[in-house]
Amino acid sequence: MNIYAGIILGTILIGYLLDLVAETLNLQALQTELPDEFKGVYAEDAYRKSQEYTRVNTRFGFVTSTFDLVLTLGFWFLGGFEALDQLVRGWGFHPIVTGLLYIGMLILAKTLISLPFSIYDTFVIEERFGFNKTTPKTFVADFFKGLGLSILIGGPLLAGLLAFFQYTGSSAWLYCWLVTTIVMLFLQFIAPTWIMPLFNKFTPLEEGDLRNRIFDYARSVNFPLENLFVMDGSKRSTKSNAFFTGFGKHKRIALFDTLIEKHSVAELVAILAHEIGHYKKKHILQNLVVGILHSGVMFYLLSLFISQKGLFEAFYLEQPSLYAGFIFFGMLYAPVELILSIALQIVSRRHEYEADRFAVETTKTSEAMVDALKKLSVHNLSNLTPHPFYVFLNYSHPPVLQRIRAIRQGKAWM
Ligand SMILES: [Zn+2]
Repeated sequence: MNIYAGIILGTILIGYLLDLVAETLNLQALQTELPDEFKGVYAEDAYRKSQEYTRVNTRFGFVTSTFDLVLTLGFWFLGGFEALDQLVRGWGFHPIVTGLLYIGMLILAKTLISLPFSIYDTFVIEERFGFNKTTPKTFVADFFKGLGLSILIGGPLLAGLLAFFQYTGSSAWLYCWLVTTIVMLFLQFIAPTWIMPLFNKFTPLEEGDLRNRIFDYARSVNFPLENLFVMDGSKRSTKSNAFFTGFGKHKRIALFDTLIEKHSVAELVAILAHEIGHYKKKHILQNLVVGILHSGVMFYLLSLFISQKGLFEAFYLEQPSLYAGFIFFGMLYAPVELILSIALQIVSRRHEYEADRFAVETTKTSEAMVDALKKLSVHNLSNLTPHPFYVFLNYSHPPVLQRIRAIRQGKAWM
């Protein structure tokens, strides 16, 4: 086993063990005693149901990740990468087409293998806890729309990246970075108007008290709000959310219909204020810049490693190729990605506190935000007492109790 194989295998195993430890600690941290903040909001049996939801999801996650681990290692050590390479090369296409087929088939196989898990998750687990609203028809449509989009957008992009490495020599990484950045920005730009409507219906929020209050609030913080939509989240799940997308004129805020149904006007304004807070505090811009810098570093490292023979030997490949190099570099890069994702989650959790603070200061009430957070976690059966290590690895938002306490502490010095 060479150094590349060692690093990749080590990362896969360490990642698996870290998750296992975090999940075990998380299950042990479940407390039967309802936290004080939630007394009166959570009925005892509903609270027990939320813990059962965490348990069921953890067990399911364990089964999926173990299956993934066995499959990945099996495919690798039984020479799957080489066998597929021989098959695809045998068809005798142009190297770039061969690359598209090789990578495409690997991704398709992974998608198809994970499909039963996804079906079980939606139609058994989510159904059992009363969340699922997805019909089999919607599920199938989603699957094919997702597949179509990946082929339509991912295919040409991947072909371009392979072509740069094939024809432009040492500056390939720079071209790849440039093109990927343009595509990323373009997608962000068109997503609200072209992509999201393929999956959901967006209708302008109807005239009335809620709309007026939201527009009054937006004016009070100098936020040029033009597009305020209701999204039919109830098409798939009873869970609720709100989000912000797009740039410039394409900026839009969408509230799930399930959110509007369950919250008071004051709570909805607070939730919206939180989303606007992310924009005003430049979190969205920061994430974008980090994403762009990250892809630059990644392409540069890719250009350094793609011609390393050892990387191909690690996967028993007889003939090195660009496309196989893309896949293997992706696996070699996983430790960097893991560390980066942990760092980004830390930043993201800080951003959530800042957005909460913005919402409280600009709406001049902390109770609406606190009530909204409580209701959201009750309706979504959130785990109220996650283990800190699990939070450290997985949470992009701070646990709800910490958010509530931070909001209330802030109030004391305001
Ligand atoms: Zn947020």
